[in-house]
Amino acid sequence: MIPEAREARQLAEMTWEEARDIDRGRTVAVLPVGAIEAHGPHLPLATDCLIAEAMAREAAERLDERGIPAVVLPVLPYTRAGFASGFSGTISVSPSAVAAIVGDIARSVNGQGFRALAIANAHLDPEHLACLHAARETAAEDGIELVFPDLTQRPWGGRLTEEFRSGACHAGQYETSIVLAERPDLVRDDVRAALPAVPRSLTAAIREGLRTFEEAGGPRAYFGDPAAATAEEGARTVRTLGEILAEAVEARLAAAGTRNLESP
Ligand SMILES: [Zn+2]
Repeated sequence: MIPEAREARQLAEMTWEEARDIDRGRTVAVLPVGAIEAHGPHLPLATDCLIAEAMAREAAERLDERGIPAVVLPVLPYTRAGFASGFSGTISVSPSAVAAIVGDIARSVNGQGFRALAIANAHLDPEHLACLHAARETAAEDGIELVFPDLTQRPWGGRLTEEFRSGACHAGQYETSIVLAERPDLVRDDVRAALPAVPRSLTAAIREGLRTFEEAGGPRAYFGDPAAATAEEGARTVRTLGEILAEAVEARLAAAGTRNLESP
């Protein structure tokens, strides 16, 4: 018999009394982190939010299945988005604001007695990633478990699609596939189908010191091959993203358990 699919619990949909009654000492809070940023002429500005929410939901369901209760927090949509800041609709805030809000959320979640905060991040702007790493380091100094698998680093990125690994990982086949799986109503499909591929690596552009999508060779704010996207690939990628975050959480909790045993 196929086990009944479990829906990830959304903290924002609970009442405070339901939140009070969660076994918080065992429960992991999952924070999706996205951006409001240009994603080609075919995807919505909130693409990274949609991807992060899907990753968080999948991770929470996997953790629940493995006996680690999880709740999903509302997505954090505002962050640093310097590469896209020249495009209409992009909202980019200062790195200090991002590090502060993520750090404050971690402290609040910790103060509420949750076991850990796990970040489901889908936005790969280098300044944004630096904010999340800084927040993780501050949390560690405060004794807070903050789990953040950076998809641009080993071993995680190696499990994602070929296009992602090529560095052409913005609004191309990889991200467009996920939006086709999650919110096909938001994909401008006739536009998408006619887009020529832009096989330029953002990873290489960042290494060369380029600072914007325009400088990196993406005048319409996409890289990769949106026309090759499929909902099937997107659904597969969402499962992989959820698995990555669930594994990162399990590894961290196992390590924390060992530490606690060593120094009670
Ligand atoms: Zn994106």
